[in-house]
Amino acid sequence: MSLSEVQDRIRAAAEKAGRPADSVRLVAVSKVQPLDRVEAVLAAGHRLYGENRVQEAAGKWPALRERFPDVTLHLIGPLQTNKIRQALDLFDAIETVDRPKLARKLADEIQARGASPTLFVQINTGEEPQKAGTLPAEADAFIAECRGPLGLPIAGLMCIPPIDEEPAPHFALLAKIAERNGLAELSMGMSGDFESAISLGATYVRVGSAIFGERDYG
Ligand SMILES: *Cc1c(COP(=O)(O)O)cnc(C)c1O
Repeated sequence: MSLSEVQDRIRAAAEKAGRPADSVRLVAVSKVQPLDRVEAVLAAGHRLYGENRVQEAAGKWPALRERFPDVTLHLIGPLQTNKIRQALDLFDAIETVDRPKLARKLADEIQARGASPTLFVQINTGEEPQKAGTLPAEADAFIAECRGPLGLPIAGLMCIPPIDEEPAPHFALLAKIAERNGLAELSMGMSGDFESAISLGATYVRVGSAIFGERDYG
């Protein structure tokens, strides 16, 4: 696949779901990818990117942003509290707010700065012990704590379904939790399942290998 093919498929999936094509935004996940592949997608005009590690993003994006200042960057991987400042310096959105300690420290730092990135609460829809995210049963209370006492402007929810399960029920669960909490944005769907996610209401899809090619972790 390629950037334009993924964009075409997003548009088609949105239309099929009876939604405007621009209601789904593409987060191009550039983690681990060689710089020349990322530069090619930047040269093609794409401006919204996702990285899952603060350190890796810090080594790559400041220089790229000098040439492409209108880039928007989402953090889509776990955030350690000792990296909050660095993350706020780098990212326009943090998709992985998932626990009270992180939310409290984020709120302190955001208040000190007087500006907040776009924030998503990550939900561990598959209740996987090794995976980050708030458990579905705790989601409403955690979202309420973030928005109420902590004053965090939560825009939506994010999930990563278990790799060995049909993703659609997880997307549907995320949409249901968002709806009952009055949250508009849903970050869900990756290379293998973004069309299914769009049919279930995704407003952001996070697509890496289908745009850039397979990641080489060697
Ligand atoms: C790597 C990653 C993606 C993209 O995965 P692909 O299968 O390459 O599209 C999406 N979301 C998160 C959280 C990721 O870590």
